[in-house]
Amino acid sequence: MDLALLDATLGELGQPGFRAGQVWRWTATGAPGYAAMTDVPAGVRAALGERVPFSTLAVAAEAHARDGTVKALFRTGDGRPVEAVLMRYRSGRRSVCVSSQSGCPLTCTFCATGTMRFARNLTASEILDQVLHFRRIEPVDHLVFMGMGEPGFNMDAVLGAAARVPEIGITHRRTTVSTVGWLPGIERLAASDLPLRLAFSLHAPDDALRSRIMPVNDRYPIAAVLDACAAYHAQRRRRVFIEYVMLAGVNDAYPQALQLAQLLDPRIYKVNLIPYNPTGAYDGSSRGAIDAFKAVLEEHGLRATVRLTRGRDIDAACGQLAAKATAAAG
Ligand code: SAH
Repeated sequence: MDLALLDATLGELGQPGFRAGQVWRWTATGAPGYAAMTDVPAGVRAALGERVPFSTLAVAAEAHARDGTVKALFRTGDGRPVEAVLMRYRSGRRSVCVSSQSGCPLTCTFCATGTMRFARNLTASEILDQVLHFRRIEPVDHLVFMGMGEPGFNMDAVLGAAARVPEIGITHRRTTVSTVGWLPGIERLAASDLPLRLAFSLHAPDDALRSRIMPVNDRYPIAAVLDACAAYHAQRRRRVFIEYVMLAGVNDAYPQALQLAQLLDPRIYKVNLIPYNPTGAYDGSSRGAIDAFKAVLEEHGLRATVRLTRGRDIDAACGQLAAKATAAAG
């Protein structure tokens, strides 16, 4: 829902100031449409139905994985593809993964999103509407900005959306913004007063390798980004997540684990090792290699977890969002 358009329209309809909040509360708690908002006058509901689309996104396709993961493909009003994912865990956790852009201008060699055409930044309302889509299916409690795009390029909209998610049931502390290490984005995040969690997609322990697999590293090398992450930690007092995708024979050897352990202060960072989701370019590390890598980090006092892979059979896992259904549809 375009919240600015909602405000303007209610103003034109001569509605009292509290009306926008009333409509938003219904929306944020999973109402399926204006018709359900029983304490909003019927005439106002009808006018809104004509003038303010209930969502800025139209659902183009939905896929369900065997593990309960749901992936939605949306179209923006101007026809741009956007994907978002709902991950369901046995613990009861319901985590939504949203996109901040349609496509991505970066060219990380292991990620499928970079292979589709980059369209544009999403608005805060378009980001919120991804969350609301899943909220209409069931209550959700975690949010990650790990879908298509680089949040650092679109921090105003990311923060605009993040500011409203507590009303949907997701606290700031359960909201994670993942970045490739785009410094201006991290600085903008630090300047906001929202206590969001920061994740840095590192993926290599040295600049030469990182530049090879993530060309953006030439712009903002590892040391500079880690300085910004440490500053964020000093301010927020919450561990920063390091994302590390495990690529066989590329970044998963013993010396690289040692190098990573030496690079990261255990008081500041926690490492998430991500099993590689096939996108064609690499082979994923074996389970044994991942466990050995994790053990080295732990011997050096770092907390490390191996990320559960969700939704791989529907191309909904990390790095697999490329709006394939769109390509097939022409
Ligand atoms: N641009 C942001 C957020 C999107 S990607 C960022 O880079 O952080 C979310 C995470 O999935 C990132 O850590 C990304 O590097 C990782 N990822 C990308 N491709 C992957 C793949 N094929 N397998 C596993 N993880 C991948």
